[in-house]
Amino acid sequence: SITEQGGGRISSLSAQSHKVLNRRSIIDKKMLTALDHKNLQVVYQPKLDIASGKVLVYEALVRWEDKELGQISPDELIPIAEENGLINAIGAYVIEEAAKFAVTLMNEKPDIKISVNTSVREFSNSSEMKEKLTSILRETGCPANKIQLEITEKFAFQAEQERAIIRQMKELQDTGIRFILDDFGTGYASFRYMQNLPISKVKIDKIFIQSLLTMPKTRQLVEGMILFGKSMGLYVIAEGVETEEQFVALKEMGIDAVQGYYIGVPMKQSDIIQ
Ligand code: C2E
Ligand code: MG
Ligand code: MG
Ligand code: MG
Repeated sequence: SITEQGGGRISSLSAQSHKVLNRRSIIDKKMLTALDHKNLQVVYQPKLDIASGKVLVYEALVRWEDKELGQISPDELIPIAEENGLINAIGAYVIEEAAKFAVTLMNEKPDIKISVNTSVREFSNSSEMKEKLTSILRETGCPANKIQLEITEKFAFQAEQERAIIRQMKELQDTGIRFILDDFGTGYASFRYMQNLPISKVKIDKIFIQSLLTMPKTRQLVEGMILFGKSMGLYVIAEGVETEEQFVALKEMGIDAVQGYYIGVPMKQSDIIQ
């Protein structure tokens, strides 16, 4: 890293690394203004519930398009926000948008819920997430059971953090919020998380769905994950479903819900209402 090499060696970085660092620091600098000016958008991707044949949940995904930088994907944006501390504000913004959307849908589509991705950093302060959620729900008039929180399995939290996080999750669960374990199968401690965290659903990561029909081992793995999830009493979702063949195979394996370009791409709120 730069710090290890000392400031004087920065010039030895390749032109490519310079570009990446430069883009990163511009994103970092522009983020607060973008947030203040509501230049961040939220799009929604449907999840199809197999038993009812209906879309019952939409997942909120943050988007940022900047004139100079072009599209900034969440995979680029979120890690920078985690570092510069804006992740809590971004999280609050996305939850607020999602809650307003849930309220908009409430009369015509009373079954629909919205899921929101969260970062483990949002749980690092003992009560921040709960306070944030409670006040947003109160202000928007959104019932707690309309919002589900996705927590990614890709992060590892420190052992001492774990109890505090579980406690917060349980408190939120008591208010009616449900948790989805996202990116299932890719994390550091899948089974431990399933043992300890109060989750209601698991979402099998798209890397497994992409090779579902081409690698025999993947098929066994996914079958196993579905059986395992169900035996734990969880609702099992597959993400990244892009083809009819994948959809049919997952249905045969007993999946509870599917999400992916085959079902629907992430859309603006106005397009969904239409
Ligand atoms: P994720 O929660 O696992 O979301 C799934 C990602 O896969 C999304 O990318 C989605 O657009 C994309 N996707 C959906 N269907 C398909 C498909 O059929 N094929 C393929 N190849 N991809 C598909 P996106 O929107 O770029 O988000 C990336 C990740 O960034 C998300 O992964 C999530 O972990 C994170 N993220 C997104 N929005 C937020 C947010 O508001 N807050 C936080 N903390 N994280 C967010
Ligand atoms: Mg997600
Ligand atoms: Mg996911
Ligand atoms: Mg994922």
